[in-house]
Amino acid sequence: MILVWNEFRHEKSNEAVRRIYPDGIHAVLAEGLRGAGFDEVETATLDDPEHGLTDERLERTDVLVWWGHKAHGDVDDAVVGRVKARVLDGMGLVVLHSGHFSKIFKALMGTSCDLKWRVADERERLWVVDPSHPIAAGVPESFTIEPEEMYGEHFDVPAPEQLVFVSWFQGGEVFRSGCCWHRGRGRIFYFRPGHETYPTYRDDHVRRVVANGVRWAAPVAAARPVRGNHQSLEPLK
Ligand code: ZN
Repeated sequence: MILVWNEFRHEKSNEAVRRIYPDGIHAVLAEGLRGAGFDEVETATLDDPEHGLTDERLERTDVLVWWGHKAHGDVDDAVVGRVKARVLDGMGLVVLHSGHFSKIFKALMGTSCDLKWRVADERERLWVVDPSHPIAAGVPESFTIEPEEMYGEHFDVPAPEQLVFVSWFQGGEVFRSGCCWHRGRGRIFYFRPGHETYPTYRDDHVRRVVANGVRWAAPVAAARPVRGNHQSLEPLK
């Protein structure tokens, strides 16, 4: 099951955002994933009981997609701990746009996750810098999103283990906008686009990347590692 989590606060308080995402950013992301062939897609929001992230639900979740912005501080630390434990145990995590400052992303990265930003209706051009990567499947060598918010380097994250996209912005900045990490048994994909006042998640290329990211982050059926004091498997002399 794919679970799309959205803070869902801008859509309730800001008319410009509501016009683009009347049922919430999560609804549009979920629609894109269903269109990409995912049968089981559910949504959860910050104001649901336990933020919609109960143990039972996380246990059923293969990949969690995360969008948050202005209310990162309202996410309960106990729930963050629960999500982190699930990622370390193999649940995939796709973090979008301003989710770079979410508690869960910062907890998994261990750095400030800070960056430059500017909202000035400018053009973003994303370049595929790893054409062999499954998240780049079906994506052209480069594509533009206009208008978008600018995010610029330096992005304070651990060096990505795989870098799939780099963005260029009209104002001159660049940004590592598609980054992959492993933590424990889990996979994490960060994808930059998706400012709330722009219809970015209706863009076909963006939808394809999000779907590819979910596919890449899905758990694999590997044996759970055994740790701690261990009996020898072969006779010891
Ligand atoms: Zn934004």
